[in-house]
Amino acid sequence: MNNPLNPEAINLPFNYSSIKNEFELLASASDTVTSDGTWVIIQANSVVLEQSDSGLSLPSGALPDWLTPQQTPLCIGIWRKKPLLAITVSSRLQLKTPYVAATFNTTDEHLDIQNLTLAGLAKQILHWERQSRHCSRCGAETEPIAATRGKICPSCGAEHFPHIHPCAIVLVKRGNELLLTRKTEWQPGRYSLVAGFLDMGESLEECAIREVREETGIEITNVRYVGSQNWPFPAQLMAGFVADYAGGEIVVDHNELEDARWFSIDSLPTLPPSRSIARWIIDNFKYPQGASFAGM
Ligand SMILES: [Zn+2]
Repeated sequence: MNNPLNPEAINLPFNYSSIKNEFELLASASDTVTSDGTWVIIQANSVVLEQSDSGLSLPSGALPDWLTPQQTPLCIGIWRKKPLLAITVSSRLQLKTPYVAATFNTTDEHLDIQNLTLAGLAKQILHWERQSRHCSRCGAETEPIAATRGKICPSCGAEHFPHIHPCAIVLVKRGNELLLTRKTEWQPGRYSLVAGFLDMGESLEECAIREVREETGIEITNVRYVGSQNWPFPAQLMAGFVADYAGGEIVVDHNELEDARWFSIDSLPTLPPSRSIARWIIDNFKYPQGASFAGM
């Protein structure tokens, strides 16, 4: 049995674990002319879903004329033995019944974990394809490098590979208290974990220590990795850590945060949605002794 403190796979949306048994990812996205597949249709920050008696799902099969894409769909893999096709449509396109745009996030649970994961993967690949059309060194149009997601510039020879940005997210514990923070733009009363982008020259553990210090003035120790979540908004990798309080008083960095404070695990505020690694870490590691996994 896997050590639940260091699971090999966390069954959260956007991680491959939730789809791997029924999905085959193509090594490089390819144009396709088929329409017999499952569609991920991205419209601004939403994904287009089809309403049926059984609920909302990714559309499949032939699309109506008004929704037929102008560009060639990108086939990104095989889902349940059929192509998974990804396209972007204009944000101005008016959707008609039975199609609806569902906000693409982990809070409103329109989609099950598998479909949300497929949509996130398609969104991330479409983003990279759009970002990598031209060489960032000389501006010429790039060409795909076979069997990879990389691009090569035929003009200057530069190679470009997908940009995935690592972030550390950390739960800080002091006895039976958790250090939680909130940003102004979040819904009232909601708190989450300290998180931030990796800086150049840093390890992820060093990033966690620096972010906690910068945002809250708190020093931490015993920083240990607990799991990660892919986060396609547009292309992050959230690396989760748990750490212990080592010293200091809270000094809130108001450039980054509205508030930071210690909460007893018996009276926690509104927390992030259950489909985020922030919530997964809090739920599984809030107790002073470590994990609270079933059976532990
Ligand atoms: Zn170039």
